[in-house]
Amino acid sequence: MTQNQSRILAVKEGQTPPLAELAALIRTYTPEDREFAASLARETAVKRFGKKIYFRGLIEFTNYCKNDCLYCGIRRSNRNAVRYRLGLDEILTCCRWGEQAGFRTFVLQGGEDPYFTDERVAEIVSAIRREFPDCAITLSIGEKSRESYQRFFDAGADRYLLRHETASPAHYARLHPPELTLENRVRCLKDLISIGYQTGCGMMVGSPFQTAENLAEDLLFMKDLNPQMIGIGPFLPHHGTPFRDQKPGTLEDTLFLLSIVRLMLPKVLLPATTALGTIRPGGRELGILAGANVVMPNISPADVRKNYLLYDRKIGTADAPADSYSALREAIRSIGYEPANERGDYQWEDDIHD
Ligand code: SAH
Repeated sequence: MTQNQSRILAVKEGQTPPLAELAALIRTYTPEDREFAASLARETAVKRFGKKIYFRGLIEFTNYCKNDCLYCGIRRSNRNAVRYRLGLDEILTCCRWGEQAGFRTFVLQGGEDPYFTDERVAEIVSAIRREFPDCAITLSIGEKSRESYQRFFDAGADRYLLRHETASPAHYARLHPPELTLENRVRCLKDLISIGYQTGCGMMVGSPFQTAENLAEDLLFMKDLNPQMIGIGPFLPHHGTPFRDQKPGTLEDTLFLLSIVRLMLPKVLLPATTALGTIRPGGRELGILAGANVVMPNISPADVRKNYLLYDRKIGTADAPADSYSALREAIRSIGYEPANERGDYQWEDDIHD
């Protein structure tokens, strides 16, 4: 057994190594170490979730954004983004199609669009809640006050995705303009958790200026926060941002981080993200084989998809909802897993009874 394999086993045993050890692991892992981590992570996921992969229907309902994150294609300074927003009826139409297709979770994601006031968001959430009482509603609309989060929760939202992006304040400052701080991001995450949302954090792998130490800090941060969901994908440059010439993250690093996260937080709901499917055809399937247990196909209307571009070459932008969906179901079956038509809530219990 190599030193890295002992470190991986330590993570699995709940004895997360200290920062320097984790950083060394991330810096020096070999393809064999990665396969070692992936096979343990797969086993851990299958023990808890069986071969089920939970599907979430992603509705990208606005690409207006008041923020200016340096990596993101829908940042406000990108004058070439073609902006759109969906109305309540269009959102409900997506949900109706999604429910018919078998989805029991809808994820409403968007830029931080001032048009969508708390009142409008609450109205959308209540309308979905009323028409689809059996479905989970996930929001991913950025940083808000505790009062706003509470209002959306009371209207019927169950879950919230807000990646922390990086757990290092100095690194955070290189990815964001000065008005955005890690401190507020973390405040948001803690509010969401204490209100009772199933909450997701996460980061890009290979974002500009990121070091192995930064990723190790992310791991320790996530271990401590103990969120219900974690979103991890490779950084991919967008031509309309200041990071247009930066190197993308790698498939291998992303897969390795997914496996480590699965071993560190065995119960966490862990998507194989669209960015992973974009960096390599079949990337999401590899994510599942590295310990992921969720996929989030896009169910936004065909005509707006090409405009929700956080990064270049995003997959599925020319598809109709039914296409992205059935091809992905097939791909998941082909690797021996089973697309699940259920809410797939976080299982709070530690032991697995079946
Ligand atoms: N406005 C919401 C939703 C953000 S988009 C929010 O603030 O949470 C969802 C995620 O996409 C972001 O959290 C970020 O981690 C990721 N993302 C943005 N630009 C990206 C890029 N260029 N490459 C890869 N992932 C990106």
